[in-house]
Amino acid sequence: MNAPLDPKRTVAELKELRRLTSDENGAQRVAFTKTWLDARAWLRRKLEALPAEVHADEAGNLWATLRGRSEKSLLIGGHMDSVPNGGWLDGCLNVLAGVEVLRRISAEFGGNPPVTVRLVDWADEEGARFGKSLFGSSACAGTLDMGEARALRDKDGVALPDALREVGIDFEGVKRSGRELANAAAYIELHIEQGPVLLDLGLPLGAVLGTYGVERHAVTFRGQAAHSGSTPMNRRRDAFLAAARMSPEIYAIAQRNGGVCTIGSCTTKPGIVTSVVEECRITLDQRHLDPAALARMLLEAREAAARFGAEGNVEVSWDRIWQIEPIPFDGALISLCEDSIREASGSSHRLPSGPLHDAAEVSRAGVPTVMMFVQSLRGISHNKIEDTREEHLELCVRAFDLLASKTMAWVVGGH
Ligand SMILES: [Zn+2]
Repeated sequence: MNAPLDPKRTVAELKELRRLTSDENGAQRVAFTKTWLDARAWLRRKLEALPAEVHADEAGNLWATLRGRSEKSLLIGGHMDSVPNGGWLDGCLNVLAGVEVLRRISAEFGGNPPVTVRLVDWADEEGARFGKSLFGSSACAGTLDMGEARALRDKDGVALPDALREVGIDFEGVKRSGRELANAAAYIELHIEQGPVLLDLGLPLGAVLGTYGVERHAVTFRGQAAHSGSTPMNRRRDAFLAAARMSPEIYAIAQRNGGVCTIGSCTTKPGIVTSVVEECRITLDQRHLDPAALARMLLEAREAAARFGAEGNVEVSWDRIWQIEPIPFDGALISLCEDSIREASGSSHRLPSGPLHDAAEVSRAGVPTVMMFVQSLRGISHNKIEDTREEHLELCVRAFDLLASKTMAWVVGGH
């Protein structure tokens, strides 16, 4: 058997999977559902042709292991699960490109490569049912908050531990999956970009620098309700005015610091047409790859809110909703990723990832990690119109395969 890499086969398999697990509204491979189990069974059949050991770990992640001459492992990751009405590429492109890379490596080294190569299909990356993404990878990385996860319920009131029991997973034991990372020397993941950056640059592929850190806060401005007719403009304590001045300000903050800021919601009380707003609550989401810049963006937003509050005689209070630090990928692997992209397509670009990915969890667990992005048409994902040009799909499999080879050599070289 000496089959070279066949990227067209990956595209054909993606279409086959789409036929099996999508309906007129898009992909329906929501984790722990029958369709997801069907997709997994289909994947297992694809893996049967390889001399790889296949097993599921305690968190429901599926591993295919091609034993090498060294126990040190190159991990290749992806996720078969989708959001409801999802696209045909998010997650499964990574897995199926990984299958193709395994085939090539197995053929090239007669089933016995210099290092162990492992494909992992993470369980419930999307968190579509329970609202907690990166379930399988965070359990494996040891960062899953067990108390929080134990209490999660889906919209029908089913608790996460009960849903897991249905598919044979003991919730209390999910972190035992962490042993899978024992010999992990590097982790690589291919993904569609899910944004418009590469599209706007006219580039097919990019090397990912890491995932953004996030600061997510609710900011409440408190003034005083007053009659809209009898209160002169100079006597108002208008909570909405102070909050509204934050809107242009966050664009300036994002521009000064090179990150992104979003006011995603705004609610007012009493919220009637005849009253000055007494209380205005906005949510602010700030993201940056650099921790110092992220901290600066938050500080500048706090200072601006305090200033607008003082100027309008309005009180301001902050509540943190959620926060995660930026997760930078491995510098050496980023360089290998760029080399691979340049070899395959001529030019490369480095970009951060706005969305979180399983790769971030693996990186947090201390495994050198990098991701490769392929251009998304329209910059759209989590939607049935999600798409990537077929020639770009083939190109990304080729570039990703080069990255696998370079990373194996890097692992052999003692990293
Ligand atoms: Zn994904």
